[in-house]
Amino acid sequence: MTTKEHQSKHYEFKAEVKQLLNILVHSLYTNREIFLRELISNASDALDKLRFESNRGTEIDESELPLEIVIELDEKSNTITITDTGIGMTEEEIITNIGTIAKSGSAEFIKQLSESKAEANNIIGKFGVGFYSVFMVAEKVELKTRSYKKDSASYLWISDGLGNYEIKEIEESAQRGTSIKVFLKDDSKEFTQKYRVEEIIKKHSNFVSFPIKIGDNRVNTVAAIWREPKSSVKKEQYNEFYKFLSYDTEEPLEVIHKSVDAPIQFNCLLFIPSKNIDIFGFNREDYGLDLYVRRVLIQHKNKDLLPEYLSFVKGVVDSEDLPLNISRETLQENLIFTKISNSVTSQVLNTLEKISKEDKEKYNIFWEQHGKIFKVGYGDYANREKYMELLRFDSSNNFKNKELTSLSEYVSRMKPDQKEIYYLFGASREALAMDPHLEIFRRKGIEVLYLTDPADEFIMSSLFKYKDYDLKSVDQADLNKLDNLNDVEQSEKKVEDLSKDDELQLTSLLSKMKEYLGDKVTEVKVSGRLQDSPACLVNTDNTMSSSMQKIMSIVNKDTAVPKKILEINRDHSLVRNMLKVFKSNPNDEFIKDATDQLYESSLLLEGYLSDPHKLVARINKLLTESSEWYSKLKNI
Ligand code: ADP
Ligand code: MG
Repeated sequence: MTTKEHQSKHYEFKAEVKQLLNILVHSLYTNREIFLRELISNASDALDKLRFESNRGTEIDESELPLEIVIELDEKSNTITITDTGIGMTEEEIITNIGTIAKSGSAEFIKQLSESKAEANNIIGKFGVGFYSVFMVAEKVELKTRSYKKDSASYLWISDGLGNYEIKEIEESAQRGTSIKVFLKDDSKEFTQKYRVEEIIKKHSNFVSFPIKIGDNRVNTVAAIWREPKSSVKKEQYNEFYKFLSYDTEEPLEVIHKSVDAPIQFNCLLFIPSKNIDIFGFNREDYGLDLYVRRVLIQHKNKDLLPEYLSFVKGVVDSEDLPLNISRETLQENLIFTKISNSVTSQVLNTLEKISKEDKEKYNIFWEQHGKIFKVGYGDYANREKYMELLRFDSSNNFKNKELTSLSEYVSRMKPDQKEIYYLFGASREALAMDPHLEIFRRKGIEVLYLTDPADEFIMSSLFKYKDYDLKSVDQADLNKLDNLNDVEQSEKKVEDLSKDDELQLTSLLSKMKEYLGDKVTEVKVSGRLQDSPACLVNTDNTMSSSMQKIMSIVNKDTAVPKKILEINRDHSLVRNMLKVFKSNPNDEFIKDATDQLYESSLLLEGYLSDPHKLVARINKLLTESSEWYSKLKNI
């Protein structure tokens, strides 16, 4: 035997890996057992990849080896070794896969983690933190690997997880696959105990589809439960499988287990999580369903089986009809695959519809947790009708217990002559309730949907219509259409009608106001929509709602205040008082102050007032004057 000595090469971990290692090594995470879940899941992935290559006819080294994961425990040397017969790694693969973090989103994950260390413990178990989690329990790791490709060399990778690792080619040919020897820290001796390791495997890795052995004994009880008849699967089995799939610690909100025969044959087992697990919102790549063909995993987290707006769904789909050797790249163009994905989408939407009818409380949980992502489904034209029925909104209707409404419920409450569905966007329910634009809707008793999520605006304008009813933003509504609806709310105090002369004076007052405001507004005119407020700004055309306009100006980096019409409530006492002053002296300074104030207050409500100094100074001036009059009046 030749004893050619191979040189060790030393490398440093990439910065983001160091950061992750630092967090993991120093975290006081009590649930350190998940390191085993991660190593087994990598072994299982490596075996899946090997089986996949083998199915598509790739030549495999040592093809006679059984596909399995073997665990050896050694109390004396305080080690645990996890060996798989998967695809293994070449030297370059070790460096790229283990030395850097390949997963998208991981870097952001680390950033968030290091910024909020306190929360690290809660988060570690929920995410697949991957290979590096081994350093929570290891003082040293030796990884031996040989790729499945013919004539691959064997390599030994060693690291203490502190910042560096070394790689050395080894002379003696290793078995195909990867073997990871973990030298446990003194406080981690428990992981050399058979009963303890068995317990961990049963808890986290029971559904891994390859045998996991300790010695000669298989520990995991594989069952493709999605292929079993629904009646024979217990609730606990569903829960256990869901937790295995999702890393969630809670039970799912809903289980969808279907065996579909027509038009295409497949089994699916899907789960709707009871919580939005993507706690940071950056984990957007980490979704998808596992695609099997006759029990063989073809693709982990396939992203095309469900549209993105249903990406909160976890689960597996197992097809009878797809060829085993199908490549992941051509899946999307495969007709059978398309049919399966359409059918899976319908399964989910039908289930949601069923919940919405039969269990409102459950549906509310769904909406609260997943509504934000679900709403993105406005682009799914094929399922638009179903999708729209599933939307929920807050509205001006006074519901008990913060209930939400569907569009069909809204329609059932519409006025006999009402032809449109109205909505308004605002910062909060409270802000919306006080919006002057809503006054006429309140007077007519017309319900208005309250939108508070910026995305809602896009969604509404893209949907455009529900059944025969146009969806209309309140500030785009054609008020003439409201004229023939009776008032339900009478204004409390009857205001006196204006005399002929006063009518003329009012017209001059409005032109005076326009003169003061100059180019800031296009027009000053009498309003038909106001009841309690003296004035408001409205758009000059009806092509875009105010909030949409605002979004567009942010997109276009346009900081100019859009020119609008200032509408005046002629029955408001402030306006009537202004008229009195105007009649005695058209050039009284008060008219100018009041005009500026009305304009800027309206601007403020629309969210456009960038500099409040003038407004505040004017209010102070007016308050000073009025306090003087007030004290005189009260003889103080
Ligand atoms: P992830 O599994 O999410 O990709 P990990 O940190 O767990 O992230 O693993 C990083 C990469 O290292 C894997 O994607 C894989 O390429 C490689 N790897 C880890 N363990 C093994 C193994 N047992 N066999 C082959 N490759 C492995
Ligand atoms: Mg992994």
